[in-house]
Parts: sequence; structure tokens; C-alpha cells
Amino acid sequence: MSSPPGAKSQETAVARDRLGADFAAGRPSRGPETMYVFPISACDARCAFCPQYVLPGDLLAAAGGYFYEQGHVLPFDTFSRLARSLARLGGVREVLFAGGEPLLHRRLPDFIRFANKTLGRRVCGVTSSGLSMLRRGREILDAEPFGVSVSINAGTEATYRAINRTARPGDFQRLIEGMRQLTALRPTRERTRFRFSAVVTRGVAREVHDIFRLAVECRVDVLAFLRLQTYAVNGRAAYDDLAPTAENHRLFLDDLADVSDTSRDHGIEIEYCGAGDDRGVRNTRAHFDQNPCVIGFLASAVTAEGFIRPCCSSRLVLGDLNREEFEDIWLGPRYAEFRRLGALTPSGARPPDSWCDECLNYEDNLPGAGLATPAWAATATAPRDAVSHLLPLPRR
Ligand code: SF4
Repeated sequence: MSSPPGAKSQETAVARDRLGADFAAGRPSRGPETMYVFPISACDARCAFCPQYVLPGDLLAAAGGYFYEQGHVLPFDTFSRLARSLARLGGVREVLFAGGEPLLHRRLPDFIRFANKTLGRRVCGVTSSGLSMLRRGREILDAEPFGVSVSINAGTEATYRAINRTARPGDFQRLIEGMRQLTALRPTRERTRFRFSAVVTRGVAREVHDIFRLAVECRVDVLAFLRLQTYAVNGRAAYDDLAPTAENHRLFLDDLADVSDTSRDHGIEIEYCGAGDDRGVRNTRAHFDQNPCVIGFLASAVTAEGFIRPCCSSRLVLGDLNREEFEDIWLGPRYAEFRRLGALTPSGARPPDSWCDECLNYEDNLPGAGLATPAWAATATAPRDAVSHLLPLPRR
């Protein structure tokens, strides 16, 4: 059912007002709007820009702890306790399954059904490599997510195989066919939203028209282009060689404007996410030099190990669902300290152990743009049992 005209903007304004009030008070009045869930630390793809799997060895060692230990699977019981906590806290708008590859988790449909039931509406979105969609798409759709996003990352098989290092011949066609079959199953266009996403590498920058044609053929609702994250580790930018050149990026923007002109005729929304002054790769430093990070009021993330992290660009562990309930973590001292450090980002005091200069949560953080750093952030001392400098919790 679609919202009445104006309802969405009214909802957004209410959410912004609430964020402003919570930020001024220094404490959230409800749970996170967005809960990221990484149900399994394994993937069936090897994207050339994925730090989890293909960061050069020396940089991976230097970046230890940012990425997830392989081989963990989030138990259903842990997820169900989290969902009940979110229901008690209230305020959750979406539970987003990402990875790794969430479709490799055998019980993903049970997770979606349970979250929808516990939170009282279709609240789940799934991000996928698309490689298991032919095999599992139908059961995922039967569980009723509000959206499914597939990482297409290429407009041709050759580019796909250059980007996905373990792709076999025919995988790209299987990915496309999986999406085609999935969208054919939707009962009505409004019921589930389907999205293709493509990280803008040099190859993708040249294939905007090919990707758009595939989006039309597959009848997706959204085509999102995402800026490449280059990960500066020890002064070295990994994946710089994949980034569009200045000329390449200019042509990409021209092609994007072309397809945007006709996208509405095909019922497709085009997105290009990232900071406005980026030149093709993500760099959000300028934004967080002027605006506080408010992610601690808006979102949270759980790894397959059951650890609660504040965002997907941070290696801080703020709690452990194997030992605590989510609401105790969300309203507890470690989160309070993280929010305080987030409120101080304009002064350069960024949360430690977080990749804030290339914040992957930049879009989520945007509702905080224009908020001034409140007095409590500069003056409040952390509660007695909080750590003043957050460090990952000891491993179990
Ligand atoms: S990366 Fe930094 S600025 Fe972005 S959400 Fe995480 S802590 Fe906030």
C-alpha cells in the first residue's frame, strides 16, 4: 500500500526533529532506525574492491579487526533476541541483511519472517552478490523482504569477470537471469523493490548504458551507482588502480545524465551516492570536518559473531549479544561514549578505530548535517564504568 501524498516527507520531518531532540539530550529516545545484520562471514564472490577478501596482505594486517573473521554464522536464537530488543526499543524502520553473502546463511528466510512478525511489518532488505539468486530467490521472496539489492558491478561479462576474481564463465548471465526471474515473481510492482547496484570502477564508468539496459530488461526499480572506497591504510590507498580517471569519471557523469533522462519512462530510479565533492572515489572528510557523526543515534550493526559495532566502517565493538541484550548495549556506557566522540567529529576528534574519512554510512549520517556539537559532548565525562578511549572488547 502506498503512503498518502505528503506522508513520507512528514515522516522524515518528524524523524529529523526527534534526532535533533535526542542529539541535544545526548541519549536516544528509541532504538536505531536501521539495523545492519551480517549473518555470515563468508561470500561466494571475490570483488576486486572488497577489502574483506582482496586487500593486499600487508595492508590487511595493518587494518586488522576492521574485517570479520571468517567462518562465523549468526545463530537464529541470537538474531531473535536482537529482533525482540528492537521491538521493545521501538523506532526501527529497516533491518538490512548484508555481508559477506547473506544468501549463504541457510536460515535467512526464517530471519526475515521473524523480524517482519516481531516488528509488525515488512522491515527487511537483503543485499546480495546475486550468484545464489537462481537457487534461493524464490524462498527469499516468499519471506517478504521489502527490498532486494543485487551487486551487478558490470555491464558485460568481461568486466564482471575482471572485477569478480572467482567468477566462472556464465556467472554473469546467471546473475542477470536470477534477477529477471525474481522480478517476474513479484505480485505487484509495489510489493518488493528490486535494485541493482554498481560500484563505479573504471570498467563500470564505461558501461553505464549497458548496465542501464540490463536494469530495464530485468525490470528493477532502482539502479544505484556507488562511489569506490579506496581505503587509505598506512598512507597507501588500496584499489586506487580501480578508480575512474578524471576523464573516465567525466564521461561516466555524462552517460549517467543520459540514462537519467529516460529512466523515468522505464520506472527506474537512478541513484549516485556519495559526498558531492568526491571525484569518483568516496571521501567524506570535508563533511565530517563540519558536521557531527550521528550514526550512534540512527543505526547499529551486528556481525555474524554476535558483536555490536556502531557502523560498518568501524572496528569498535560496543557489545556482545552472546552476553548482553541489545537494549542494554544501545543504552549503555560504551555506546554513550561512542556518541560523545561522534558529536565531536567537527573538532577532528573522530571516533578511534573508524574509517571516518571514507564513511560508508555517509548517507545515513546526512540527517545530522547542520546539527551543532552540543555542550554535553565537550564537557560531559563518560559514566564511571565506560572506557574513555573505546577499544574492541576482548574476544571470547
Ligand atoms: S565511519 Fe566515522 S563518521 Fe562514519 S558512521 Fe562510522 S564513526 Fe561515524
